[in-house]
Amino acid sequence: MLNQKATLESIKRKFDVQEIRKDFPILSVKVNGKPLVYIDNAATTQKPDVVIESMKYYYTHENANIHRGLYFLSEAATQSYETSRMKVKEFINAMSASEIIFVRGTTEAINLLSSSFCKSGMIKEGDEIIISYMEHHANIVPWQLVCERNKAKLRVIPISDEGELLLEEFEPMINEKTKIVSIVHTSNSLGTINPIKEIIKIAHRHGVPVMVDAAQAIQHTKIDVQELDCDFLAFSGHKIYGPTGIGVLYGKTEYMNMLPPYQGGGDMIRTVTFEKTTFDDLPNKFEAGTPNIAGGIGLGVALKYISSFNFDDIQNHEKKLLEYATQRMLEIDGLKIIGTAKNKTAVISFVIDGLHPYDIGTIVDNDGIAIRTGHHCTQPIMQRFNVSATARASFGIYNTLEEIDIFVESLRKAIKLFR
Ligand code: PLP
Repeated sequence: MLNQKATLESIKRKFDVQEIRKDFPILSVKVNGKPLVYIDNAATTQKPDVVIESMKYYYTHENANIHRGLYFLSEAATQSYETSRMKVKEFINAMSASEIIFVRGTTEAINLLSSSFCKSGMIKEGDEIIISYMEHHANIVPWQLVCERNKAKLRVIPISDEGELLLEEFEPMINEKTKIVSIVHTSNSLGTINPIKEIIKIAHRHGVPVMVDAAQAIQHTKIDVQELDCDFLAFSGHKIYGPTGIGVLYGKTEYMNMLPPYQGGGDMIRTVTFEKTTFDDLPNKFEAGTPNIAGGIGLGVALKYISSFNFDDIQNHEKKLLEYATQRMLEIDGLKIIGTAKNKTAVISFVIDGLHPYDIGTIVDNDGIAIRTGHHCTQPIMQRFNVSATARASFGIYNTLEEIDIFVESLRKAIKLFR
């Protein structure tokens, strides 16, 4: 079995971006004969060798189904998978590993929660659910479905022209009908970092639980669920240098014990007869069927990898990238940044006069640069800022100032071509 300790890395590594780049094999790929410049990290991050190798190791040395076998391979696979759960617990400082539910990603985490909330009878006709204007579709549509099913109402916290929540409008929205606040920590299309601790405090003052969408936060900032005191939190492995198809729903034990299962099947039951089924304890109650074992193992390794750095060093590096990119991009005539909050993560959404975002994306791709174009699964944001789409550059631990220079030159080229 791989030497996977239950604990995360405590000895911190020096933050050296050139050394870090060597950990990511894909960064030496050439695109259109040019070195890859990968700045679409808000969509997904690249994977370090250790993550790729851990999954290969599982398939070549430990592949078996978990929790069920009494033989060597099954026990080895179970131990690796459950060790990963311990790592997640430690990474977000949950009280217990049983509060960590493995899911496919943030989307499934929110669907699990909203669906179980809906089935629990906690949301009745006329009740209200609060989200914000800057939610990803993954934190809009599942709640909208709940509202349709249970005749409840979705209420939306507005935002300013800078892309900041109008917090003063939030508290008056809460009343005795409010059943949950489900809110994004960091916006994927604006980059805004919300005052999440304050939001939780306000909601709790009124006895309302809070679900935090941490899909764009977990890779950039230290998340401590006990310190935040959030009731639920979701994130995806692939956005924190881990595999796709694996993510986490954290939920406080008291709530998770109250909520009914999301899906039924193997591994989540205690007893089954044709008359009645009783369910297993947490976390199994919410994990029906064979899970993404390799993904779970890879996620644990990714968290260990990111824990080998000081979060302060990651944040300083990404802040430098954000400031430099913002300054260089604003030198471009006709370029407008959408999302100018004071507290921002390294995400820059932008439009350029006279150019469609898709044209921008295609031209920079010729130079080996990967950015995202479109509505970024935040159509209400696009409507709010009166654009159909934006181009978006988003940075991670392996990006450099030189890559930003290449990107800015490529944008200038695109403008020359299209204007
Ligand atoms: N929430 C936010 C803020 C996101 O940025 C994303 C993905 O971009 C999601 C939710 C959905 O994540 P996933 O597609 O991994 O489920």
